[in-house]
Amino acid sequence: MRYYTAPDWGEGKGGRGFRDVPWRRIAGYFRPYALPLAGVIGSIVLGSLLGLVQPLLIRGIIDRAIPRRDMVLLSELAGLIVATALASAAVGVLQGYLNARIGQGVMFDLRNQMYRHLVRMPLQFFTNTKTGEIMSRVNNDVNSLQMVVSDTVANSLRNVISVVITVATMFALNWQLALLSLVILPLFIVPTRRVGRMNYDLRKRSQEKLADLSALMQETLGVSGILLVKTFNKERSEVERFEAKNRELMEAQMRQSLVGRWFFMMLTTISTAGPAIIYWYGGRLVMGDAMTLGTVVAFTAYLGQLYGPVSALANIHVNVMGSAALFSRLFEYLDKPVEIEDRPGAVDVGRVRGQIQFENVYFRYRPGGEWVLRGIDLTIEPGQLVALVGPSGAGKTTLSYLIPRLYDPEVGRVTLDGHDLRDVTLSSLHGQIGVVTQETFLFHASLRDNLLYAKPDATEEEMEVAAKAAYIHDMIQGLPDGYDTVVGERGYKLSGGEKQRIALARVILKNPRILILDEATSALDSHSERYIQAALQPLFQGRTSIVIAHRLSTILRADQIVVIDGGRVVEKGTHRELLARGGLYARLYAEQFADQEVGRPGDGQGALGRDLNVAGGGRG
Ligand code: ADP
Repeated sequence: MRYYTAPDWGEGKGGRGFRDVPWRRIAGYFRPYALPLAGVIGSIVLGSLLGLVQPLLIRGIIDRAIPRRDMVLLSELAGLIVATALASAAVGVLQGYLNARIGQGVMFDLRNQMYRHLVRMPLQFFTNTKTGEIMSRVNNDVNSLQMVVSDTVANSLRNVISVVITVATMFALNWQLALLSLVILPLFIVPTRRVGRMNYDLRKRSQEKLADLSALMQETLGVSGILLVKTFNKERSEVERFEAKNRELMEAQMRQSLVGRWFFMMLTTISTAGPAIIYWYGGRLVMGDAMTLGTVVAFTAYLGQLYGPVSALANIHVNVMGSAALFSRLFEYLDKPVEIEDRPGAVDVGRVRGQIQFENVYFRYRPGGEWVLRGIDLTIEPGQLVALVGPSGAGKTTLSYLIPRLYDPEVGRVTLDGHDLRDVTLSSLHGQIGVVTQETFLFHASLRDNLLYAKPDATEEEMEVAAKAAYIHDMIQGLPDGYDTVVGERGYKLSGGEKQRIALARVILKNPRILILDEATSALDSHSERYIQAALQPLFQGRTSIVIAHRLSTILRADQIVVIDGGRVVEKGTHRELLARGGLYARLYAEQFADQEVGRPGDGQGALGRDLNVAGGGRG
């Protein structure tokens, strides 16, 4: 298990002003939805026009129908008010539907894009990032955007359109009154920018806090995490850590909602005071017969219609800025370089012979950090079994990871059949390599699905042959559901040895030209160990195998033992040669391997090493 370092993204950029928001890029996500967007705009215009009609109908009632005691006109106008209200409602429903289509569509695209990008990220990204944090980005952030996309966008459009139309109508009715009502507008707009910026920062902060919290839960509430928490008696301190993080989240969200509340209250006050001014000034005009009563009433109705959208627009500005923060966070993620990808013109390696060469390879995990591999020169001939041996932390795993190009060397190159790995396509490379890591990972799915992951088009028979070769077929057959048994956290629990054999069956099914195997360091009972040994024997045949060896039996069979220490190849040769040299290998052998030598190697049972790292604590 390795420690992660704190992710270096999440702060940075964002958080400044309106101008820093990548509007064009955000707009790009809406481009595929131009048609429904046009529909939204159309329905908004229609809705706003319908909104204009009502005050005019009211004016007709006050100025014409009532003074003339015209019952027919009165009924007609009242009926029209009802009709326009119904029409507005229908337009609203249509608009809601279109909004949802756009919103959900953008979400759909973003989630896909995120996942597509994440899957291609280098291994280093996953070792350095908390799983919960990744989840939070894909889930919480994308979901929060839903609100922006379906509400904010449509609302701002609607409000802008209705403000324009309403103001124009007000000027047409009476320009002095219109001017008077507009005087109050700057009061809305000035504080908007300030609050918008504050909210932008606060929203970003609370998203980060939420991500922290998810990561903490992800870590501690998993099986391995909770085991550690319980056995180290850390329940109380973990609860305290959680509460502290949770409090930070609450405080950030409280501040965020307070900013909005305070702002909203101010807007409400201004919008209720507005009509009083119109009634005062308009009332005087009516008294002087300069204006009809109906016009004043219609005017206040328009004013009411105007303040709604203006204050909403001010709030929407706040929302837009906050949502832009979410987009920025997602972009930071999407902009993380993929690093390892196909070079233009990369070739298909085809079926390889399996010669691997390391040429003066230097590698380190962090630029400027300490070299983990320093000047590795190593040639592995096709079909060879190479055992990598060395103290823990020497760089064996790292070395093995360079072959499937999980990392690229910083200096030097790794070649496969003479091709620099960087010149071949990743998919063709991975088609030739099978990797069995120390910790076997099985998906929460049936055993069949887990096995077929290696070769989806394998026949039932091929799958069973592989399972037999890995000595796991009989055990699977013995399960009530056989190959359909679901494994994983919520399914059937396999023992460590069984899992390893599944992993071996999986790689046997893949039948790669090159095998990279990290022999597990966890102790297995002698029964499991015997099966695994038996499964390994044929696996090495006919392919190039690079094994991070912990079993004496593997080491003794190796064509070449490569001893790594401090990122260098310090010794190379066969068991006999290296033992005779009396160097590091001889020492390691004496310390770790010698007492695995229970029987004769190769007799199928004897040298069934107990695990290297627990050598001495022998069972069986
Ligand atoms: P071995 O397999 O021989 O035990 P590794 O290749 O796992 O050694 O590790 C070699 C060195 O690289 C160790 O010092 C280890 O701490 C460091 N290391 C391994 N993986 C990472 C990683 N993802 N990020 C940073 N350092 C790492």
